[in-house]
Amino acid sequence: MTASSAIVIGGGIAGCSTAFALAKRGLKVTLIERNASIASAASGNPLAMLYPRLGGDAASSRFALAAYLHSLALFQSLQLPEADFNQCGMLQLGFNTRELTRIQKVASQGYPNHILRLVNCHQASALAGIKIAYDALYLPAAGWVNPKALCGRLTQHPNISIQNSQAVTAVTHNQCRTTLHFNGSTTLSADIVVIANANDAQQLFPDMPLNTHAVRGQVSLIKASTSSRALNTILCSDGYLSPARHLRQAIAHHCLGATFSTEEVDNLAVSIRDHDANLEKLKSLSPGLHEELQNNVTDGRVSLRCAATDYWPLAGQLLDASRLKATPPRPSASMACLPWVEGLYLNIAHGSKGFTTAPLCAELIAQQIVNETSDIYREFAGLLNPNRFLLRELGLKRLAKMR
Ligand SMILES: Cc1cc2nc3c(=O)[nH]c(=O)nc-3n(C[C@H](O)[C@H](O)[C@H](O)COP(=O)(O)OP(=O)(O)OC[C@H]3O[C@@H](n4cnc5c(N)ncnc54)[C@H](O)[C@@H]3O)c2cc1C
Repeated sequence: MTASSAIVIGGGIAGCSTAFALAKRGLKVTLIERNASIASAASGNPLAMLYPRLGGDAASSRFALAAYLHSLALFQSLQLPEADFNQCGMLQLGFNTRELTRIQKVASQGYPNHILRLVNCHQASALAGIKIAYDALYLPAAGWVNPKALCGRLTQHPNISIQNSQAVTAVTHNQCRTTLHFNGSTTLSADIVVIANANDAQQLFPDMPLNTHAVRGQVSLIKASTSSRALNTILCSDGYLSPARHLRQAIAHHCLGATFSTEEVDNLAVSIRDHDANLEKLKSLSPGLHEELQNNVTDGRVSLRCAATDYWPLAGQLLDASRLKATPPRPSASMACLPWVEGLYLNIAHGSKGFTTAPLCAELIAQQIVNETSDIYREFAGLLNPNRFLLRELGLKRLAKMR
């Protein structure tokens, strides 16, 4: 099928980057967002850091790096002003034995210097512009982006139209068309639908185990001091601190993050307890800055990440869960024999790294929709298989890793 139009549900970074990837391939895209504006849920933080965390298993490190490089190239191509996208570099600090071992191991893996290199504490201090007590992994191209500006720029494409304040309440499909249901009796149908609504996707697919959960997080905004303005790079330990920037306020602020909790996910109120938890992270980044900035918290923001139990995003075409359960295939079946839903895709579960992972997933979904192939698609589409938990539940472990 050659599609000429598509609907994307969800106006966060996953939905906006999916809309962009399809629009640049010539499809007319309608982006539907439940809230009054895009980038208003998890993708609405004042700043998002862009960096890969390497050193897990080989596949997750390769994916993290590929996603990071893709996001950097995409954001550069959008020509965002420096006030909205800044590759100031990042120092991942060896602040405890485990992290020191990790960064030393990563540094020994032969990455080119323009991706990363190990620096001692003196070199780290010179790069950061403030005293750093630890050896660190330096990522010169890492940086931060203003999520609202980024999502706005992605959706300025002439092939994209946005419908805000529209909540999809159900998704149904027949052989080759998906229908979206809204409150009242309104419906919209399309050949191609991509669901990018994070934690709310599970409600739309009650038969399909997506195994996602909400992770509450708070960032703290901290008024900069004269000496903290000298910070040139992002610092990262078990939290992160951005250089001082004019965020929502007239005075320059740092963005300090972030907390993680699977409790109280219905409570999106900023809490002092979470500010305190972020300030504890600041201690491990720089005791000097902690001393100086601990009373400078002026504001914060809470939102919910969406994470899968195996921490991989869910991105790709969906199977018809009811048909699959009713007549499970043999374990040796080919992927082509499975009951695919023509034209229905998912792009969710980006955890704490959505600005790095969602644009690459969007690109891979767009490739699948228009039948492009790429080495990156061949390498990662199986690992991102959004049907993997259902296939595993049915004992189809081999198919769960395929695309
Ligand atoms: C405190 C905190 C700090 C973070 N820091 C970073 C960071 O530094 N770097 C980084 O890369 N990531 C960071 N993240 C993670 C990042 O914010 C997320 O991974 C990313 O925003 C997820 O994007 P998304 O589009 O999947 O989800 P969202 O941004 O949540 O978008 C989903 C959208 O779908 C809409 N929606 C839901 N249901 C419906 C429906 N039924 N109909 C229509 N629309 C619907 C929602 O309103 C929402 O706008 C952080 C997260 C938190 C919480």
